[in-house]
Amino acid sequence: MKVARFHAPGDIRIEDVPEPVAGPGDVKIRVRNCSTCGTDVKIFKFGHHHIRPPRVMGHEIAGEVVDVGEGVTGWTPGDRVQVIAAIPCGECEECRRGHMTVCPNQESMGYHYDGGFAQYMIVPAKILAVDGLNRIPDGLGFAEASVAEPLACVLNGQELARVGEGDDVVVVGSGPIGCLHVRLARSRGASRVFLVDLNAERLAMAADLVRPDAAICGADTDVVDAVLKLTGGRGADVVITAAASGAAQEQALQMTARQGRISFFGGLPKDDPIIRLDSNLVHYRELTIVGANGSSPAHNKRALRLIADGSVPVADLITHRLPLAEVLDAIDIVSRGAAIKVTIEP
Ligand SMILES: [Zn+2]
Ligand SMILES: [Zn+2]
Repeated sequence: MKVARFHAPGDIRIEDVPEPVAGPGDVKIRVRNCSTCGTDVKIFKFGHHHIRPPRVMGHEIAGEVVDVGEGVTGWTPGDRVQVIAAIPCGECEECRRGHMTVCPNQESMGYHYDGGFAQYMIVPAKILAVDGLNRIPDGLGFAEASVAEPLACVLNGQELARVGEGDDVVVVGSGPIGCLHVRLARSRGASRVFLVDLNAERLAMAADLVRPDAAICGADTDVVDAVLKLTGGRGADVVITAAASGAAQEQALQMTARQGRISFFGGLPKDDPIIRLDSNLVHYRELTIVGANGSSPAHNKRALRLIADGSVPVADLITHRLPLAEVLDAIDIVSRGAAIKVTIEP
């Protein structure tokens, strides 16, 4: 079968390898869609300390069961499935307390296990053990189902930031994650959603699709000023930074309303993670700052349902569909910000 394997930074190869075999407790799937995201670009450029090459990449996975290993019950060939990306151990203190997104023993598809840029893939027994294999509802396509994984991360972020009825929400970053944040905030009853980006072209493309109440280009506008104007000086109830930018995180505090919530959804570069934060804003305005680290199996299930029942439409966000042989083009398109969602159809 054909796979796209990471060998070293800058070195991803399309290769012919034997089809994998389902061991005890595993499920083997025919991958139908594996979507790409900024993380794939990061791995391509810099590698990752959890990846020991060669490794098949790809973690936004949907496909069809073709075989099950010894002892597997409840799954049969032909079942259409979506697969979680982050695998909590299910046994540590955090997992037992229900904090699966911060399991210190977490492993990931495409990192510790071969991922979805392949014609066939093994869903490891560890995923089934934490209920991380989800049935795709009838009528929902594989490409849309593959977006359940990033939406699950967005859902985790908005639950932690308590996005809800009547909120004014600012989303900083208009990539696929930013677009999902806009759509999810609307489905949770946000009153107005403002989308911010430095890249005017990408912002225009995203705004065209997700129709925020205002699109603010940080390259030519003072974002804090603009948000304060739009909210009558109050600021936004929730500000979500879906960009790897310390400056955006610092600005977020300046445009958050009293008792508002700030989600540092996107992480910062490892070598530059320190920001200047006005602690008195947090104190006197009773602000809450939250993080977000991926998603749990339960978030994946709920995200898949939100897509299937139309609460969070994603079909129009999938702007490019490419075959496995063009995975490098896909990564290039993503890194240039020239697409919303690029999906690979192996
Ligand atoms: Zn991703
Ligand atoms: Zn754990």
